[in-house]
Parts: sequence; structure tokens; C-alpha cells
Amino acid sequence: MKPPPFDFVCPKTVGEVISLLEKHQSDAKLIAGGQSLMPLLNMRLARPDILIDLSKVADLDYIKEADGGLTIGAMTCQRTVERSELVKSRQPLLHEATRFIAHPQIRNRGTIGGSLAHADPAAVYPAVAVALDAKLEVAGPKGKRSVEAADFFVSYLTTVLEPNEMITEVRLPGLPARTGCSFIEVSRRHGDYALTGIASTVTLQNGGQCSAARIVLFGVGATPVRARKAEQVMVGQKPGEKLIGQAAEKANEDIEEPLSDIHASAEYRRHLAQVLTRRGLAVACERAAAG
Ligand code: FAD
Repeated sequence: MKPPPFDFVCPKTVGEVISLLEKHQSDAKLIAGGQSLMPLLNMRLARPDILIDLSKVADLDYIKEADGGLTIGAMTCQRTVERSELVKSRQPLLHEATRFIAHPQIRNRGTIGGSLAHADPAAVYPAVAVALDAKLEVAGPKGKRSVEAADFFVSYLTTVLEPNEMITEVRLPGLPARTGCSFIEVSRRHGDYALTGIASTVTLQNGGQCSAARIVLFGVGATPVRARKAEQVMVGQKPGEKLIGQAAEKANEDIEEPLSDIHASAEYRRHLAQVLTRRGLAVACERAAAG
């Protein structure tokens, strides 16, 4: 199918984008890489009167060091993230996870901002953003505001963004020393959206005890889910097979209502959440111990 007719504008600055959003409100849609929006238009699940193309907006495509962490412009494509040595060395979880997004052709177009704004509960970047304690810089008519990734996702394909706002930047704080990360997902074929996945980080003290753990499950609810009960099992303890098994048993306790659809039942997703938590934590702990 072809999309319904729409007007198309190519603003050059964030200010122009915001003015256009103000003018057209919910009749307008931003388009970044188009990898999620175009299918929605073609299936006529979205019918905006006007598309605001972000590809010509200046200064939204970069990866920079800042305050010991990284800042990434919203229009940075997933392939650039995947290939960045800075991301690989500073944020190995983001690097590792990006290769699970679809295929290179899609990653060449799809952007980090688009992926976060789209807020698919089975997508990679929302879970990674929560696991890495990211902050999303949002521009709107009243200026800029910063939103914690943990507060950004509201429900299926729904975020706290107002119709006249856009993401401009993703800020990732630096990882503490002796932090290990891991990303694992189960999908039917490589490149498909995950049935269930986990993004996790574990930080160890010099004595080997776990000082912090972040375990984020995705594909199991309307938003990425922080498995806090499982995290609590880890913190203060020396990780080992038994402890990791105990944490995995708690993985489901923060999941309210797993999805049940043609791809997988809720029961299977709950089972995966436990299995992946065990595997993910084992890898993250091993990497943390290796320094
Ligand atoms: P677009 O499609 O252009 O926009 C998506 C939405 O975000 C739109 O509503 C748009 O208005 C809004 N938007 C875009 N940029 C901004 C911004 N800066 N501020 C506010 N709103 C904005 N993703 C995965 O994570 N895992 C997968 O396995 C996966 N598999 C895929 C397989 C296929 C076949 C396809 C086509 C896509 C797949 N994707 C997957 C999605 C892909 O990662 C998309 O690139 C991503 O979801 C959207 O990014 P985009 O830049 O293309 O955004």
C-alpha cells in the first residue's frame, strides 16, 4: 500500500522544527530514518497531514565525550553507533546491543532518537537507555528539558513527549570502574524484534561484592521493565552461580503483564525472562570481574 498524501518540509534548525510542530500539532509527524514511520504510513496506521523531515537539521548527528560519559545526537544513525570506537570503549552495552537491531540496511537509516521516540516495547534502545541510566534532552516551545529514560516510556509506542516536542540528544553517564555489561535477546530470526531480552550492568567492589546491578527486561510489557527484586538479590553479595540463580528466580516479580501474542505466550516470555536473567548476569559478572 501507499501512504495517504501529505505535505513534506525540511527545516534546518531545531527552532524551526518546534515552530512547525507548534503550528501543526497532532496533524504533523517528525520523520527521522523512517524505518518505523514509513511502514505505519504505508499501512495507513498513521495519517499525518505533514511530515517534518529531521535529516537536514543541523547538529543532531554526533557522538561526543562529555563529563566522563557520552552525548549522542538524536539523528545519529544506528550504524554510526555500531561503528563508533568511542561507543565501543566507553559504552560497550550500547555497542553490543546495536548489532541486534534489524539488519545493516535498516541500521544505516534508523536513528537513536527515532528508536527511543517510537518506544516499541520489544526494541533494543529503550531497554539499553534505561539500563545505562540515560537522560534524554527534549526541545519544545518552552525551551529544553531533560527526561530520565526510566520516566520517558509510558506505554506501547507512547512516551512523555508532547506533540510539540522532539528529542535532540541522548546523554549517557560514564560507567563506574569494574562494571560489566551484557545484552541478550531471543528472537525468531536474527534481526527480528525480540520476543524477550535483557540489558544488564553489574558493578563490583574491590572485594568482589556487587555494589550495583541494573537489570532491564524488554518484550515482557508495555515498556522496558527494571527487575528490581532481582537487582536486590545481587547487591552486597559476591556473585556466583547460586546467587545468580536466586536473582533469576526473582526476575518475574517486577513484570506485571507479559505480552501474549502470535509470536510467544505470556508464560513463555516469563520463562525467557528467568533464563535470560541468569545468562545475562553471568556474562555481566564475568566481565566486571575481568575489569
Ligand atoms: P522513524 O521511523 O523516522 O520515526 C519513528 C517515530 O519516532 C515517529 O513517530 C517519529 O515521529 C518519531 N521521531 C523520530 N525522531 C524523533 C525525534 N528526534 N524526536 C521525537 N520524535 C521522533 N528496532 C529494534 O530495536 N530491534 C529490531 O529488531 C528491529 N527490527 C526491525 C526490523 C525491520 C524490518 C524494521 C523496518 C525496523 C526494525 N526496527 C527494530 C526499528 C528500527 O530500529 C527503527 O530504526 C527505529 O524504530 C525508528 O528509528 P527511525 O529513525 O527510523 O525513526
